[in-house]
Amino acid sequence: MKSRYQILVIGGGTGGIMTASSLLRKNPKLHLGIIEPSNDHWYQPAWTLVGAGTYDYKKTKRKMESVIPKNADWIKNSVHSIDAENNTVSLENNRKLHYEYLIIAPGLKLDPSLVEGLTEAIDKGVVCSNYSNPNHTWQVIKNFKGGTALFTQPPKPYKCGGAPQKIMYLADDYFKKSGVKKKTKVVYATSGNAIFSVPEIAETLMSVVNRKGINLKFNWELKKIDSEKQVAWFQVSPEAKEHNPITLEVLKEKGLRGIKYDMLHLVPPNTAPDFIKNSTLADSSGWLDVDPYSLQHTKYQNIFGVGDVTNLPTSKTGAAIRKQAPVVVENILDMIRLSQLSGKKYDGYSSCPFVTGYGKMVLAEFDYTKKFTPDPKLKRMLIKDSSKEHWRLWILKKYILPYLYWNKMLKGKEV
Ligand SMILES: Cc1cc2nc3c(=O)[nH]c(=O)nc-3n(C[C@H](O)[C@H](O)[C@H](O)COP(=O)(O)OP(=O)(O)OC[C@H]3O[C@@H](n4cnc5c(N)ncnc54)[C@H](O)[C@@H]3O)c2cc1C
Repeated sequence: MKSRYQILVIGGGTGGIMTASSLLRKNPKLHLGIIEPSNDHWYQPAWTLVGAGTYDYKKTKRKMESVIPKNADWIKNSVHSIDAENNTVSLENNRKLHYEYLIIAPGLKLDPSLVEGLTEAIDKGVVCSNYSNPNHTWQVIKNFKGGTALFTQPPKPYKCGGAPQKIMYLADDYFKKSGVKKKTKVVYATSGNAIFSVPEIAETLMSVVNRKGINLKFNWELKKIDSEKQVAWFQVSPEAKEHNPITLEVLKEKGLRGIKYDMLHLVPPNTAPDFIKNSTLADSSGWLDVDPYSLQHTKYQNIFGVGDVTNLPTSKTGAAIRKQAPVVVENILDMIRLSQLSGKKYDGYSSCPFVTGYGKMVLAEFDYTKKFTPDPKLKRMLIKDSSKEHWRLWILKKYILPYLYWNKMLKGKEV
């Protein structure tokens, strides 16, 4: 078994595979290993559609061996720790691997223990999350008979900025079809103070919220769940505001406000994996500390980060990784060849496909400045303004993006 690699990649998810494939496409002679414990690779962006019963969960999964590039070594294990001073990685099986360059892409960790009662409640009964079990979400939505449908959004950072609300728009559409909408209150309790940070997109989303009559509660942060009594407890900040007010009993207890729910969709707290959090590689919040433009680690020049694990101040998405991977690739190739960075820079691009109902979507694309930056290629699809709902964008989400993901992006081809 080999113990020295020119390039080691931690994680065989979206970031790890896209970056490794692209590196090997550009230089097949690179000696590259991917450390990944899982048998399966997941296409998480489709989980929103799975949760709404319009996509097959099984189709979001492929065998890991089918996505690992042919000329890479798959080291089937988990990283236990990184010794960046000595360029070594220790695995859970006590093996040590030496690297010249390290790419860190283990994603993030869902940590339900950070919300009281969530560990017991999650994915059981009427409590669901597309982040942990989208099939259960669909069961909850399908079986909902009316009452209060409560959706929550946690403080940032968490992956896919729009995912907590996309499922609400689809659920609301389903409630209309199933006939329970008339006896339903849809409530969105968000710890944020706006529906979205890009003004053009926020304007469309607010019109969707108004059309659907959704009650918005801003600056409400989920703190506790009482799954027996079906009450979600929130810390409500003094700046809290409400949009589309409704009559809803709000309980009070020890400084928290409670809402009784008949179904609850939430996002378990997202944190950095422990081996990053507890290392010298993390920033003060536990995320991998990288330069926002070069993606090089701020302390170690031969370490780069990509994807959800990083502290990049933009939305954590696969779409963001599509633009991050080429920067890491060019920088590592130039470090190997010329001992310097390539000059290629990541501008914070991320995107969020807001499905607003079955067959409708708005595409938020933006950069570090939150400027709306629609892809010019959309014009070729006859989409003039992607900040407005369009059926063609739904086709992009449901059919075209999964195809591009499996057949182009994971193979290291730029799209
Ligand atoms: C419900 C939902 C909806 C989403 N919607 C969208 C969307 O519409 N558009 C979009 O672009 N993005 C979306 N995303 C976000 C997107 O899926 C993620 O941002 C992306 O998958 C992150 O890629 P990653 O490589 O950082 O992590 P992941 O893809 O999660 O991969 C991490 C990999 O690292 C491995 N790993 C973990 N720990 C270790 C370890 N110790 N050692 C070795 N390997 C390890 C894991 O097994 C895993 O294979 C969504 C996510 C969710 C949950």
